[in-house]
Amino acid sequence: MREMKASINNHRAYTSPQEKREYDRQYHKEYRESNREELQKYIKEYFQANKEQITEYKKDYQQANKEAISEKQKEYRQSNKEAISEKQKEYRQSNKEAISKQKSEPVECDCGCIVSNQNLAQHKKTKKHLNNLK
Ligand SMILES: [Zn+2]
Repeated sequence: MREMKASINNHRAYTSPQEKREYDRQYHKEYRESNREELQKYIKEYFQANKEQITEYKKDYQQANKEAISEKQKEYRQSNKEAISEKQKEYRQSNKEAISKQKSEPVECDCGCIVSNQNLAQHKKTKKHLNNLK
């Protein structure tokens, strides 16, 4: 590290600011590349050690920027409408069986009736269900 600084200082005497910037940029890039693994390890450890703080910070951030975030999401959905619906279509297509299986899966309602997942919401509005819960 000390050597590196010395060489930067040496260069400063006869390089232009642009050249120096380029040199620094190059140096940082090389530094990052040659220490990639260590850096990643460091970042991972940092996250691990500060997990709670980071989660807390994210929560605060989301709380404080709630409107801006939801606005952004709205914008995103608006401008990616087609891509999103295409994705959903693809998802439904490739998970057709799993989805239909899940829908027809029998579940026990709070009232004791056995209904399919698909009909549960509707069943909960029926007289039978309401009567059963009385
Ligand atoms: Zn019920």
